[in-house]
Amino acid sequence: MDDNVLKNKKNILVVGYGISGKSVTSFLISKGHNVYVYDDNNDVNVVNRVTAIDWDEIDFIIKSPSIHIMPHNRHPVIDEAIINTKPVYSTFDVFKMYNPNAKVIGITGTNGKSTTVSLIYHILRSAGISVALGGNIGIPYFDTLKYVNPEYYVFEMSSYELTSSQLLNFEIGGLINIEPDHLDFHGSFENYIDAKHKILDYSKYKIISIDDKYTFNKYKNKPRTISISLSQDAIADYHIENNLLITNNDTILDISNLPNLVGTHNAQNIMFAYAVCSQLGISHEKIVHGITTFEPLPHRMNTVRKIGDVLFINDSKATNPTSSAPALATFAGYKIYWLVGGRSKHVDPMLYVGKYIDSVEKIYLFGEATEEFRDIFGGMKPIENCKTMDVAVRRAYRDAKNELGATVVLLSPMCSSFDQFKNFEHRGNVFVKLVNEL
Ligand code: ADP
Repeated sequence: MDDNVLKNKKNILVVGYGISGKSVTSFLISKGHNVYVYDDNNDVNVVNRVTAIDWDEIDFIIKSPSIHIMPHNRHPVIDEAIINTKPVYSTFDVFKMYNPNAKVIGITGTNGKSTTVSLIYHILRSAGISVALGGNIGIPYFDTLKYVNPEYYVFEMSSYELTSSQLLNFEIGGLINIEPDHLDFHGSFENYIDAKHKILDYSKYKIISIDDKYTFNKYKNKPRTISISLSQDAIADYHIENNLLITNNDTILDISNLPNLVGTHNAQNIMFAYAVCSQLGISHEKIVHGITTFEPLPHRMNTVRKIGDVLFINDSKATNPTSSAPALATFAGYKIYWLVGGRSKHVDPMLYVGKYIDSVEKIYLFGEATEEFRDIFGGMKPIENCKTMDVAVRRAYRDAKNELGATVVLLSPMCSSFDQFKNFEHRGNVFVKLVNEL
């Protein structure tokens, strides 16, 4: 597909006017396009908003990442576009059309994307490389254009964007892991896997976790492929043995001394970041300097406060069972008072958290998924139905402070936040405030 097709067309309909939609709209207007905006939300108030679409006036559609595109629940406007034979592109496609030579490092995976892209960005910056950070991490691609000719763009790529994009092209593409997630959007786990695999299909160099059973075949005998494993005896380009990061039989880093990146899951993220930066020619010393000076992102297993023996941990970003498993693993030596709830991902949590469940003393449920989790955990652990997170925090503290020894009140909710909060940041900030008020 010719990168210039869109640039030469004038009339564009942007569907979805959230952070990405707003950003792509301003960008396209600045490039001289006539931009129309469609959004289901009547509160969206922009001069170029349309409610009925005159398809003769539209050359292309640009869809915001979360607009549904798969046949099982496609947004009606996308259906109309298909009937009217109007091409549908993603916001990433627009970035690529206007920056065809940009060297993009794309990272995807079910969990660890934001941590890994932030770590890569930090290592490269601290090594003196000019680099921009954007994508699903909450920084629209077009905001990165404020950087003057960066050598690399490090983009967090969501499965939504990967599914919808037609101009994928990465200098390096990394797929950290795949577990069931976003099934409402993709319609099936197979579709979700296909979306994630696109990053490898369209990358010059590929970084692959060979522990990932869905991806293993993508690695075997493929050129320009760097393999990663958490497994002690794996034959991988990078692997971990007794907390030591090993490559080519050389121990290159002791990861047990990294308070900013604790846990096995972060070992995986560190290996990906190391492999990317090493592939870009950054020296070992500079990579290690970057890793050791990295500031952890908020809402990912952050300590909020300790009252007596009770530790309060904010892991609001754990929006699915696979991402809560590392939190339970990390606090396996504690008595865990676990705050769980929100909008369910409809994935059996016991497949992931089951092996750590013994450390859980009690579960405090809130939000839409209450009934589902009560049915799953009710027979095995004490449960309290708290309805809202404020009640959950108070009750968990009431119980935890009467316990002897190391206890933790852990918000690691295994659900998205949209039933009661604006997003995971909002949920995490409310948690921090509630804890600080105790
Ligand atoms: P993402 O951007 O993919 O959602 P984040 O880095 O924001 O990933 O982390 C989200 C959640 O997943 C946090 O709860 C974090 O502790 C957990 N997590 C981070 N890296 C990994 C990993 N490699 N494997 C499993 N869980 C992870």
